[in-house]
Amino acid sequence: MEGHQSFFIRVKHIARALGAVLFPLFCLGCGQEGRLVCETCLLTLESRPVFLCPVCHRHGVRGQCCSLCASQSFLSSVCALFPYDEKDLGSAILRFAKYHSAQSLFSVFEPMIHHFSAHNAWFLSEIDCLMPVPLHAKRLRERGFNQSVSLATILSFSTRIPLVLGLKRTRNTPHQALLSRAKRKENIREAFCVVEPALVSGKNIIVIDDIYTTGSTMQECAKVLKKTGAREVRGFTIARG
Ligand SMILES: [Zn+2]
Ligand SMILES: [Zn+2]
Repeated sequence: MEGHQSFFIRVKHIARALGAVLFPLFCLGCGQEGRLVCETCLLTLESRPVFLCPVCHRHGVRGQCCSLCASQSFLSSVCALFPYDEKDLGSAILRFAKYHSAQSLFSVFEPMIHHFSAHNAWFLSEIDCLMPVPLHAKRLRERGFNQSVSLATILSFSTRIPLVLGLKRTRNTPHQALLSRAKRKENIREAFCVVEPALVSGKNIIVIDDIYTTGSTMQECAKVLKKTGAREVRGFTIARG
């Protein structure tokens, strides 16, 4: 069964790769034929950092959790590169890359991530490691890559802060995007564990994901990290819903 599955997954990846060759690509921004993001549209991508309280989503200085929400948040702060907007090119790229397994497309965010890290050094100060939100092993085999690892790799390269795969997904939960706000929290509960407590204990950690919407996934990661002894957990995402 396992062998059959991996065979079909391989076929799926080959079919995707062939599809990219056989069928023309159209720019996600302007529709022009040739590339998924044309040179002109690429230049319009810019970092517009979002600094909101992780819980109540009101403006928070440097994305820090406000005093009213402090008791409900395992994340001390969250920063995103831009607000999520269905109509925006950046958000379209995130959706396309994730659901079409176009891992290389994440590299378009590289200049924005470099720009962010160069201008917001305070967010990265005293951080021991970057930790991507993990995918369940089954989903990872289906998709072929974890988008959070791709993004964390770029941030790690930009900041020289080590990337540590310290979290593991223990349950393969339905996609958060398909669920209501209330069901997301329940869906993701107890879905993660720490791989090795020594990687976490006493450390200041930034958890990385592609999109922060209700924050349920990232809060759940932060919860298990704090329970294992992490000193502080911050969150970093590309888009904020
Ligand atoms: Zn274009
Ligand atoms: Zn708040």
